[in-house]
Amino acid sequence: MRRHRQAKIVATVGPASSSPETLRALFDAGVDVFRLNFSHGTHADHRARLDAIRAIEKDVGRPIGVLLDLQGPKLRVGTFADGPVQLLAGERFRLDMDRDRPGDRQRVALPHPEIFAALKPGVDLLIDDGRVRLRVLNCSESHAETEVVVGGTVSDRKGVNVPDVVLPLSALTAKDLADLDYGLQLGVDWVALSFVQRPADVDMAREIVGRRAGLIAKLEKPAAIACLDDIVDRCDAVMVARGDLGVELPAEQVPAIQKRIVRSCRRRGIPVIVATQMLDSMVATPVPTRAEASDVATAIYDGADAVMLSAESASGRYPVEAVQMMDRIIRNTEADPYHREAIDASHTPARPTTGDAIGCATRRVSSLLDVAAIVAYTSTGSSALRMARERPRSPIIGITPQQSTARRLPLAWGVHAVQCEEVSDVLGMSDQACAIAKDEGFAHQGDTIVVTAGVPFGTPGSTNLLRIAEVG
Ligand code: PGA
Ligand code: MN
Repeated sequence: MRRHRQAKIVATVGPASSSPETLRALFDAGVDVFRLNFSHGTHADHRARLDAIRAIEKDVGRPIGVLLDLQGPKLRVGTFADGPVQLLAGERFRLDMDRDRPGDRQRVALPHPEIFAALKPGVDLLIDDGRVRLRVLNCSESHAETEVVVGGTVSDRKGVNVPDVVLPLSALTAKDLADLDYGLQLGVDWVALSFVQRPADVDMAREIVGRRAGLIAKLEKPAAIACLDDIVDRCDAVMVARGDLGVELPAEQVPAIQKRIVRSCRRRGIPVIVATQMLDSMVATPVPTRAEASDVATAIYDGADAVMLSAESASGRYPVEAVQMMDRIIRNTEADPYHREAIDASHTPARPTTGDAIGCATRRVSSLLDVAAIVAYTSTGSSALRMARERPRSPIIGITPQQSTARRLPLAWGVHAVQCEEVSDVLGMSDQACAIAKDEGFAHQGDTIVVTAGVPFGTPGSTNLLRIAEVG
């Protein structure tokens, strides 16, 4: 069972997609990685979903990735005495730490000392996904006097964003730590960290996660964009979290930042996911807008590893149709000759290492010869990712003895992961690679494949061998 595309699909599981039947239909439609969003649902819900996904994996005999997405800190205003209030531009509005006093048109509680610690006059606070904008006139460690810049309605417990400052808050709350502990015990393959502001946030998560799961930084704050490369250097994959990014930054800046993040990740060779609102209208209608189809295609032309569905698959009316649509858009885009041109034009030179030299050579071979598949032997997954970084024309089969590696690789561009027994010699390897390429539907008798591996076998980071083999 193989997919006929290089870019991958991540789909969020939620109430609309939790039954084993729907999860199976989503997988059949093209989901490579399922996202469990810990902002919603109980531990028992997520456990049942993970069990159902593992049952599908067993049934289809293909590794499936599972991504745990942590909620991160959520900042909210308090409640109001008499329901929602209307704030008008030019008016004054006060925020304070008086959490027990219900709000009115003049003030409301903002029970987050970390915000007041970071505020300065001139800084903006956004309420309700950026719908209302307040500018700080003066402030202390327990209050802020603001002017309403953009007015609107504010109601109980609406979310607050403070894009202009780095908040003295960890990306991991007590809930996140408990969720992380639970998820790691369940054996998730990837962990996504929300609210990353600085490289140290990633380091802190790494301390806990170690190598038990791949670590994904969600880029959704301007502060993280300011130190993009340092963050990308510390994680195993990145998510362009355009929902919050588009609240904290003007919408018109999101496209260029998305492309910058994708370039930064491709240069380093770590998987990058473009996320949020990709086919948003499919939450309610069975077809996307042409603009949404174009949005998915843009990510594919840029060479992103994966595109993601959120509400479309978690709570929308057409979860399976959304995955089918995404699959069709990716396949049509990848079939456009300009796609290959765009991918090649955005390619950057590799590192001066033996492994990357093999990767570059393989890329050359696969564009000179009509190579049916590149079979990359990989233990940690790193060699398969270095190969994916080259964005070769031919599909990559990542063969690994490690189940954890096989389950992480479905996120990576062009990689079809296969878990199987380790071989001990070069001839055995060549035979095994040909057999697997044939069995998995990538090659027929007489086809050429390229095999890469590290000799001696089983030593991570030792890729030093490129073999061209004819499938017998
Ligand atoms: P969220 O992340 O849905 O967990 O907030 C994605 C985003 O912000 O785009
Ligand atoms: Mn977010």
